[in-house]
Amino acid sequence: MRLFLICCLLSISFSASASQIALIIDDMGNTKQDAQAFTLPANVTFAILPNKPLSKTFSNRAAAQQREVILHMPMESLAGNNQEKNVLLSTMAPNQIVQTLKTALSTVPHAVGVNNHMGSRLTQLTLPMSVTMEFLSERGLFFVDSRTTRYSKAEIIAKKNGVLSTKRNVFIDHTPSLEQIDKQFNRLLSLSKKFGYAVGIAHPYPQTLEYLKTHLVTLQQHGITLVKMSDVVSSSASYAYHPKDKPEPISPAL
Ligand SMILES: [Zn+2]
Repeated sequence: MRLFLICCLLSISFSASASQIALIIDDMGNTKQDAQAFTLPANVTFAILPNKPLSKTFSNRAAAQQREVILHMPMESLAGNNQEKNVLLSTMAPNQIVQTLKTALSTVPHAVGVNNHMGSRLTQLTLPMSVTMEFLSERGLFFVDSRTTRYSKAEIIAKKNGVLSTKRNVFIDHTPSLEQIDKQFNRLLSLSKKFGYAVGIAHPYPQTLEYLKTHLVTLQQHGITLVKMSDVVSSSASYAYHPKDKPEPISPAL
C-alpha cells in the first residue's frame, strides 16, 4: 500500500513537471520593431519571413542567443491575398516549389524547421505538400503546421515523408486585445497540462511581447516548462506511434 502511494505521488509530481509548452513568434523580420522580441526567453522560437531585408540579420542574432530559428514559409491562402514575394502557389511545378524553398531557406540561415505563413489553400493540396515535405526530409528540417485551415494535410504528409512534425494548438493573439491574449495564453497552459505539451503561436505585436515578458516567467509556478520547438517536435513524433496512449490536442479551425 505504501509503495502504491509512493508511486502515485511520484507519477503526480512527474506529470506536473512534465507539462511543456513551445512558443513561436511568427512573421519576424517585417519591421525593425520586431527586434523587441529578442528580449523574450531564448527557448521561444522565431519564425522568420524569408526574402526580407532583416531575414538574415534576425536569424544570425537569434542563433547567437542559442535561440531556435524556423523559416516562416509563405504559402497560398484561400483569400488569395498573397502579399509576400516568392509564395508557394498551387500552380507551381514541383521544380519551382523546390527552387522557391531553396531561395527562401538561403535567406534564413540556421533554420532547423519550417512553419507556414498563411497557406489555407496550399496546405490542403497533396502534390505541393508532398514536394515540400520531400525537400524538408532531404534537408533534415522539421515542420510545424500553423493550421490556418482545419483541412490541412501538411502534418499527415510530413509524417509520410519521415519529416518530424507537429501542429499549432493555440494562436495567442489572433485577436490582439489584452483580454483575448490572456484567455488564449491560459488555454495554452491548460492544453499542455491535459496533453503533456502544447504549441502556441504569437506575433511580435507590442502588447503581445509585453504580456509574454510578464507571464512566461510564471510558468514554473504552473508546473510548466518552456521548451524549444525541436523538443516538442521530437517527443510528439514519438507519441504518434502510440495514438491511443496520447490523445492529440485539438486545434481550433481558422
Ligand atoms: Zn505568418
